[in-house]
Amino acid sequence: MLVVMKAQATPEEIQAVCDHIVQLGYRPHPLPGAQRTAIGITGNQGEADRGNLEELSGVAEVIRVSKPYKLASRDVKEEDTVIRFPGTDATIGGRNLAIVAGPCSIESREQAFAIAEQVAAAGAQFFRGGAYKPRTSPYAFQGLGLEALRIMAEIRERFGLRIVTEAIDNQTLDLVAEWADVIQVGARNMQNFSLLKHAGRLRKPVLLKRGMSATLDEFLMAAEYILSEGNYEVVLCERGVRTFADHTRNTLDLSIVPAVQRLSHLPILVDPSHATGKRDKVLPMARAAIAAGADGVLVEVHHQPEKALSDGPQSIYPSQFVEMMNDIEKIAPVVHRKLPRGVHVQLADADTHDSKPR
Ligand code: PEP
Ligand code: MN
Repeated sequence: MLVVMKAQATPEEIQAVCDHIVQLGYRPHPLPGAQRTAIGITGNQGEADRGNLEELSGVAEVIRVSKPYKLASRDVKEEDTVIRFPGTDATIGGRNLAIVAGPCSIESREQAFAIAEQVAAAGAQFFRGGAYKPRTSPYAFQGLGLEALRIMAEIRERFGLRIVTEAIDNQTLDLVAEWADVIQVGARNMQNFSLLKHAGRLRKPVLLKRGMSATLDEFLMAAEYILSEGNYEVVLCERGVRTFADHTRNTLDLSIVPAVQRLSHLPILVDPSHATGKRDKVLPMARAAIAAGADGVLVEVHHQPEKALSDGPQSIYPSQFVEMMNDIEKIAPVVHRKLPRGVHVQLADADTHDSKPR
């Protein structure tokens, strides 16, 4: 259920409605919009009891939300969600495109810095790198863990890039949340409901990758798990799904971009690296993703991909990353977007860019 407040409703009226929802035994989710505030209601098993919500001061109407996902739905929030990063002008969602780039895994300080320097110079706003890796084989490189988180915190300080890294379980989640700017939940964990709820209780943006065989509804319901716990900063990421096709690692399902945008206000990025698994296919698919209306791309970049400890064959060279950025810059205006190149750190907050956890 959704309570739509009148445009002129006061903060006190909004609070009174939230209190009333709590009294009914449900959870209120006030979602401010450009025109008016809507208050999503969760916690009901069947149809929620409306009580006398409609009669409360400042309430315009009470609407039943028929979709299984509520807080992720455009019915509840019409405007696109834009995620901001205090201290910089980097955003995810909205007019500006977000570019997340970096190696699959952090392998050493030298490797991470060499790549970060080049992606920062080419205009990425976010640096990605795995500290904890979900590997198919238990004998494969599992990530440097805390050491990698420390290296990435140094990279944030040195280059102003915001850090995106994956938490693979409940044990690593708090640590990742402490050190990173965006917590990645990987494809293999998209339906790890305890991890999603845990991420929902944190107050850090979450980048949720689509499960390898997840439908659109399952993808949005996974996001709903995070939102339902009060964390409204969720970024979706299409990274390819399993099909019969074997010319690529996965099959990039670009049509999910407009499908998500029709149903949900959440931003969606595309990861052409894991979607294709092949370096020569990353640039064409990155261009296509932007043309299809994605809010940005996440790509794996390595300065020596032949030596990479994970995902070398799909990692593009820094020179290809520059080429990709130049292409995206040209495509962006066609889809009414802009590629802001680089992070502009606001000086007033410059002292927050240290290499400590945040
Ligand atoms: C990754 O981003 O390195 C990764 C493991 O991605 P996915 O969960 O999409 O396979
Ligand atoms: Mn990878």
